[in-house]
Amino acid sequence: DGRINGIKSALRVIPNFPKPGIMFQDITTLLLDPKAFKDTIDLFVEHYKHESISVIAGIEARGFIFGPSIALAIGAKFVPLRKPKKLPGEVISEKYILEYGSDCLEMHVGAVKSGDRALVVDDLIATGGTICAAINLLERAGAEVVGCASVIEVPDLKGRERLKSHGKELYVLVE
Ligand code: 5GP
Repeated sequence: DGRINGIKSALRVIPNFPKPGIMFQDITTLLLDPKAFKDTIDLFVEHYKHESISVIAGIEARGFIFGPSIALAIGAKFVPLRKPKKLPGEVISEKYILEYGSDCLEMHVGAVKSGDRALVVDDLIATGGTICAAINLLERAGAEVVGCASVIEVPDLKGRERLKSHGKELYVLVE
């Protein structure tokens, strides 16, 4: 698809952010390019519009940039999965392990119901730990997770294999 090259060239890499040795994949330059930004949303919408998805679950923070436009286009609700202590109502929490330490995602109780068909959206998948925590939250609430969508995949970190072992499909635009 010719649109992928435009998306790829609208991304940039910032070396040594947020720590020395890390090559940070920056999606904010994609947002400055209306054609590439729209193509990103359109590709996700085209991939998922016939899957009867009822909920888009966006992961804080950059899943909040891509998720809502997909939700509006396919007629699904949008549910934010947030870092701890950000959501005001009653929540369920899912802890997950990072390279150094651990983190946690939270979701409002009642946002997702048994029978909902969910798509998880984030900007980048590395180890897959974050997306797996999102899947666990949604499944604990009774949703069926139909797929996981990310703009960027870092294939060396084997997130795709990790999702496959959970039986989940991964759709990414750029490696
Ligand atoms: P994982 O849990 O798959 O190892 O890491 C993915 C999570 O970390 C995502 O929520 C993603 O936003 C964030 N992340 C890790 N590295 C990068 C990066 O280089 N660029 C961006 N934009 N996000 C990153």
